[in-house]
Amino acid sequence: MGAFFQKEIETMPRRQLQELQLENLKWAVKHCYENIKFYHDRLDAAGVTPEKIKTLSDLQYIPFTTKADIRDQYPFGLFAVPMRQIVRLHASSGTTGKPTVVGYTRKDLDTWSDLVARILVAGGATQDDIANISFGYGLFTGALGLHGGLEKLGATVVPSSSGNTQKQLMLMKDFGVTALIATPSYAMYMAETAQELGYKKEDFSLRLAFLGSEGCTPELREKIEEAWGIFVTDNYGMSELMGPGVSGECQYRQGLHFAEDHFIPEIIDPDTLQQKAPGETGELVITTITKEGFPMLRYRTKDITRLNYEPCPCGRTHVRMDKVKGRSDDMLKIRGVNVFPSQIESVLMPIQQISANYQLVLRRENYTDTLQVNVELNDASLLERYAELEKLQNTVHNQLKTVLGIESKVLLVEPKSLERFAGKAKRIVDLREEKEEPKK
Ligand code: ZN
Repeated sequence: MGAFFQKEIETMPRRQLQELQLENLKWAVKHCYENIKFYHDRLDAAGVTPEKIKTLSDLQYIPFTTKADIRDQYPFGLFAVPMRQIVRLHASSGTTGKPTVVGYTRKDLDTWSDLVARILVAGGATQDDIANISFGYGLFTGALGLHGGLEKLGATVVPSSSGNTQKQLMLMKDFGVTALIATPSYAMYMAETAQELGYKKEDFSLRLAFLGSEGCTPELREKIEEAWGIFVTDNYGMSELMGPGVSGECQYRQGLHFAEDHFIPEIIDPDTLQQKAPGETGELVITTITKEGFPMLRYRTKDITRLNYEPCPCGRTHVRMDKVKGRSDDMLKIRGVNVFPSQIESVLMPIQQISANYQLVLRRENYTDTLQVNVELNDASLLERYAELEKLQNTVHNQLKTVLGIESKVLLVEPKSLERFAGKAKRIVDLREEKEEPKK
């Protein structure tokens, strides 16, 4: 068993944990009903007044909340307390229209930093660590969320923010930074840049990384661990729910433990909206049960995953979620077949001759969708060795066909010719003019 930040609660027997959840859920429903007009009307319409919540399974009668609901209530319509009690605002940039705005009371911020500290300790961090935060600071919750958790733990924070990789590497070496907070793609890019600048692995004291804000397959993680010689854990969260810290991996890395004393996760079928049986894969729905400023009842995350109630060897009793398989929004529909970019990534990463950078280009030719996978080679000289190049191309093509069940065109490109990203990587280029309407 490793270390814990809040051992008593993290290892609480499940029965006791469920009693605590029910108590918190009753409070949360009442808090929403009494203080937010949107929820008052919704709950009334569904006939679920706070007194009707008697067991945890009564949760299923509460209507869902969606991102569209948050946008409709822009900016503060879903806040449950007066603005004088809100001490921080964050917002996530939507691709369309208004951002989603969230607010925190002092207690919310305190809980947030506790929960981030939990996942940091679960992933191996201690107060002796010096942590470089390479997430962009600002309205985005990633940087300040990790910042608060690291300070709560007592680690030393280096708030580098994103960009200026060369300077970050210099400081990481000179300060003896031991932990890196970044997106997976940026952690990989930093390793590449370090190599180009002539640094050796031994120049750094790095031993841990907490990667987040975009998906990371186990295969990509292995590449990052190898490039830096570190141990990487994954964590999960989103600003609508709090930010990072909603769930995180322990050292066994067999799923991400939820902070179940603060959140209740459920899995639903995104088409029928019915709860799925324990252990089944579907869309993750989360209810916040202690948040004061910006509570959410049954928020549809659009993330596809599965919950695992099996006991974990680490001793934590809180349920684990599998790594997110993809977002129901990111799921690509290619010739009628559902494809998650993570499936493609898991094929590409183990292949030694190619880099961690790839790009998916979707086109519509003669009324048919085509998928082109651009993959960077590690060694430019391979481009001149046609027989080997063709063999590699065939290998990638055949493995993709086996995993995805559809044909694709594989294009091997020069090393470092694809765009690099300091934040979330944009790997999908969809050039299909008329996208298929989602069924509904
Ligand atoms: Zn565990």
